[in-house]
Amino acid sequence: MGGTEQSYIKEAFDTNWISTVGPQLTKFEESLSHYTQSKYVAALASGTSAIHLALRILGVGQGDTVITQSFTFAASAFPITYLGAKPIFIDSEIDTWNMDPNALEEALNQINNSSSRQLPKAVIPVHLYGMPAKMEEITNIAAKYGIPVIEDAAEALGSTYQNQSCGSFGNMGILSFNGNKIITTSGGGALLSNKEEYINKAKFLATQARDNAPHYEHTQIGYNYRLGNVNAAIGLGQMEVLGERVKRKREIFEIYKHALSDFKGITFQPEQDGSFSNRWLTAIRTQSFEQREAIRLALEKENIESRPLWKPMHLQPVFKQAPYYGGNVAEDMFNKGLCLPSGTAMTEDDLERVVGIIKETFNR
Ligand SMILES: *Cc1c(COP(=O)(O)O)cnc(C)c1O
Repeated sequence: MGGTEQSYIKEAFDTNWISTVGPQLTKFEESLSHYTQSKYVAALASGTSAIHLALRILGVGQGDTVITQSFTFAASAFPITYLGAKPIFIDSEIDTWNMDPNALEEALNQINNSSSRQLPKAVIPVHLYGMPAKMEEITNIAAKYGIPVIEDAAEALGSTYQNQSCGSFGNMGILSFNGNKIITTSGGGALLSNKEEYINKAKFLATQARDNAPHYEHTQIGYNYRLGNVNAAIGLGQMEVLGERVKRKREIFEIYKHALSDFKGITFQPEQDGSFSNRWLTAIRTQSFEQREAIRLALEKENIESRPLWKPMHLQPVFKQAPYYGGNVAEDMFNKGLCLPSGTAMTEDDLERVVGIIKETFNR
């Protein structure tokens, strides 16, 4: 926590706005709107619920398909299945580690030329570990086929692409304020859009789709997906330290990079010209699975947690039937990649210790 969260929580308590309506919730949405330069924002219970609502608003339903990046956290893909639709997975490219525009184009071209010609209802690119995906290429390809884009910016609050906030490029964008993200509201998320109609619909669906009537009248199926006002109060305090958090995350990345770049085989997630990553997690790629495991296990022995990069969705047992387009970039990243401890509460000594243990694995 940054320090001011409790004063916002106190305000919420003092004025008795405890549930899913209140001034803190409105202010948090305004703050996100201002920060990301997205005109309309709905604060929600989670990033996952934001993706679910975005898909529902675009009319995704039974038998439809939705394209997403294979190399991501499962929450990018799970909501597709909530609506009875099926995911199609796309490989990553090595420049950003995100959705490969060439593989996306190939997928859409193939589907368009197939006998069914059943084009996906949405494309969901992800900004993995805070690194902006190639949004210009991706949005152009999607537009060519008339497919809306939902930007999964769950990990990328504070990142920009061509000086524009991640989350503000797609027809809709989503953020997450889960406990592990760059800022947190305990649990929470948001849906962003420049289209008022989408966000009004999201707020309507998120509060059980109650029609305008004195009694409870429902013509549609709804959800209980709104963020609580007390959680939003935490978010208001967190927004005040977001800038500091990004700065520190980037410093941590630079410390690792500086200390480890002499070691052959270790490469870092690259940042392309025009991109600015919040460096949510410092992710490295090693030369081999064996080298990755040697580092991971050496850290584990010292009670330091590190984790392999996301296991691609097309390799997950639960998605083994899903179509996949691309090569083995994501799979290779999974085999050779590692997330290093990147918490902003880490001291210089903590970082030095991690670096020391990694270096030792090279001397063996
Ligand atoms: C965290 C995360 C989500 C889901 O957000 P929750 O708030 O945890 O539901 C979705 N996509 C990605 C890439 C994430 O990292």
